[in-house]
Amino acid sequence: MNPVTRIAPSPTGYLHFGLARTALFCYLFAKKNSGSFILRIEDTDLERNRPEFEADIFEQFAWLGLNADKTFKQSEHRPRHTEVLTDLIARDLAYVSREPAKDDASKEVEVIRLRNSGQMITFTDLIRGDITFDTTELGDFVIARSMSEPLYHLAVVVDDHDEGVTHVIRGEDHVSNTQRHILLHQALGFEVPAYAHLPLILMPDKSKMSKRREGSSVRYYREQGILPHALINYVALLGWNPGTEQEIFTLQELIELFEISSIHKSGAVFDVEKLRWYNKQYLARLSDEEFAAYALPALRTALEKRGVDWNDSIALKTVPVLRERIAASGDIAPMAEEGEFDYFFKHPEPDSASIVQKKSTAADASRHLQKIHEVWSALAEESFADHDRLKESVWEYATSEGRGNVLWPLRYSLSGREKSPDPFMIASIIGKHASLERISNARQRLGL
Ligand code: GLU
Repeated sequence: MNPVTRIAPSPTGYLHFGLARTALFCYLFAKKNSGSFILRIEDTDLERNRPEFEADIFEQFAWLGLNADKTFKQSEHRPRHTEVLTDLIARDLAYVSREPAKDDASKEVEVIRLRNSGQMITFTDLIRGDITFDTTELGDFVIARSMSEPLYHLAVVVDDHDEGVTHVIRGEDHVSNTQRHILLHQALGFEVPAYAHLPLILMPDKSKMSKRREGSSVRYYREQGILPHALINYVALLGWNPGTEQEIFTLQELIELFEISSIHKSGAVFDVEKLRWYNKQYLARLSDEEFAAYALPALRTALEKRGVDWNDSIALKTVPVLRERIAASGDIAPMAEEGEFDYFFKHPEPDSASIVQKKSTAADASRHLQKIHEVWSALAEESFADHDRLKESVWEYATSEGRGNVLWPLRYSLSGREKSPDPFMIASIIGKHASLERISNARQRLGL
């Protein structure tokens, strides 16, 4: 039999990071076994549902490439839920109960409760093994607020059955619901599906990754510049691994290697640095053109906010610097706010005291700058595109005069910052004319 799995998000928040992992595991299991993967929007909580959250769920799954074979909306099954309730009541397996309202004891409400004979229930969880519940503790639990308002427990059981779901793979927080679901499956005469409850994703302090926490949604990481594949690859290994040292997997490889039995039982700790590491691996695979399209819009926005004029050809040349320095495009804005990239686009205003290397003198700094000005003036414009050529042109001189004494004033004159990329990198990006002008400016500031 080809398995059918489902992911059943409620549109009460942006798609949760943990749900993306559950969806991935449902997807991998279905695809590995030539089955199908269903997306069901559980939109029955009218007070908390919001259309923008529903749109976000579709948007993020499409972005991740986790395409469902079929999509349902739970609210469309309302008539069917009512039909099932009617049938349960007719067979005296459920009943309408008049009782004081939970929030106001002076008011009476009608709810529908399942008759529960209080048996022991054992099911074999595909990850956690046999789990036994004494269902007496549940009593006759509520399954609907009215004939047209089924609760989650009833709706999920009916929908799973009607949609042919064979394997319910979901978060461990649902384990205790499973006893109710099995009782309902039995009352309705439905075959009980197989269950697999995934360990929770924990924050480094071992707390739950709650829905309200910043960084708990897929959208958050997407906005930070995490690539879909990096996210997929990272979450695949949160609580599962194929038992080898391999860390980078295509979706196809994951499908081939995935086994429910190798999912860990204990909670998986979320490590944002590891996610960023994955992102850097995938960024390294982008061509320069792709990387530019990925990173430069963020650089442009950040620089324009600072009033720095944009220049396309300079920006393209910063790609190698950005590749080295960022793990995600979201890193660019905070660095740019610190003035980190200004010097590629406009002349710095170097402070005369800082031009001089600590153990050197202003006269020496000026002399070194003059020498480099001479050497670089004689170079062809094209040589400036070549970082190594620029380095070679002054290396012997720098070595004989003391590298720090020579390279510090050069680097500082070009960047105006105590910390920045090496001077040859900067010169190769800004070109001959700007490099010489900055060196002359610095010498003028020294007044020597
Ligand atoms: N709608 C439920 C949730 O968002 C999932 C139900 C289930 O997987 O059984 O937690």
